Amino acid sequence: MTSPTISEIGELALIDELKKRFDRRSRDVTVGIGDDAAVLRPAAKHLLATTDMIVEGVHFDLRFVTAYQLGFKIISVNVSDIYAMGGIPRHALLNIAAPARTPAEFIHALMDGVGDALAHYRVVLVGGDLSSSKGDISLSATLIGSAGKFIRRRGARAGDRIYVTGMLGDSACGLYLLKRIKNTVPIYLRGAKWNIKSLWDKMWKELHIGSEQPELSWRTVEPLLRRHLLPEARNPVGIIGDATSMIDVSDGLLIDLTRLCDESGTGARIYEERIPVSAAMRKTAGVLGLDPLNLALTGGEDYELLFTGVGKKINKLTYIGDITRHG
Ligand code: ADP
Ligand code: MG
Repeated sequence: MTSPTISEIGELALIDELKKRFDRRSRDVTVGIGDDAAVLRPAAKHLLATTDMIVEGVHFDLRFVTAYQLGFKIISVNVSDIYAMGGIPRHALLNIAAPARTPAEFIHALMDGVGDALAHYRVVLVGGDLSSSKGDISLSATLIGSAGKFIRRRGARAGDRIYVTGMLGDSACGLYLLKRIKNTVPIYLRGAKWNIKSLWDKMWKELHIGSEQPELSWRTVEPLLRRHLLPEARNPVGIIGDATSMIDVSDGLLIDLTRLCDESGTGARIYEERIPVSAAMRKTAGVLGLDPLNLALTGGEDYELLFTGVGKKINKLTYIGDITRHG
């Protein structure tokens, strides 16, 4: 039996499903999905708004990514932008354009991913739009957040230290691996399909990387694939009080640090030996013939927070360099 297409199900039925699954009343949602507009109650002094879209053929390729993973990712990348301003993400709007022939299963899996991300970040979906498209799928989300105090890209001063919240380059390494695998990898926020280990063993055999290379275990590659397929945004709680400037690493450390410095009117010095690289990434990059440092500096899609501060109270983060006077 084949799954019905979304045009067979119809827009009204899909919106009904969205409403059943996601509509929540809460202290700060007076009217959610189902009316002409949502009605929200401001939760703090500042309201933050951001939007990001991902387009088939430009930002993703359905040979490598599942609908679930796309749903999770479109929420995560937007949450990352709210976090990067020091905000708390609260409400989301979601726009989906897909060809009429898209299987309803695809939209359901997409909703599963969106739902897991919303629960993970405690965000409520309050509206959106659906449209058919002539060819590719595009997804766009708008996130509304709140902040008592917000942190901008500008604000770094000479003498501030530069910190990053986690490992860099894992996601890019995961993408290279996916391109070698040439297949989707069915991992979810919690766990993976039961047969994933044997699936990996089969994929590994088909990679033809060369028998002289050490074998990559599922335990080594899983975190890298996960970082790429299901990126988790970093909550800045604990950083906000001390940060003088902040940005999320979406395009790669060098590009995003340059943006922060340009906005702040400063320069920066980073120390190669301090760049945080995971053991799994170093090993996998070695097998794939990639340079770990290059992946960490230019890879992108890490969704770690890069921020500056005076460095007294900030710990458990990697200090990677210093802000300098000259741009
Ligand atoms: P309108 O014609 O007024 O734009 P729609 O029929 O597009 O209304 O949408 C009806 C309701 O369903 C609205 O509250 C809208 O926000 C919500 N909605 C539509 N598409 C989505 C979606 N992809 N995600 C969440 N809510 C949606
Ligand atoms: Mg509409």
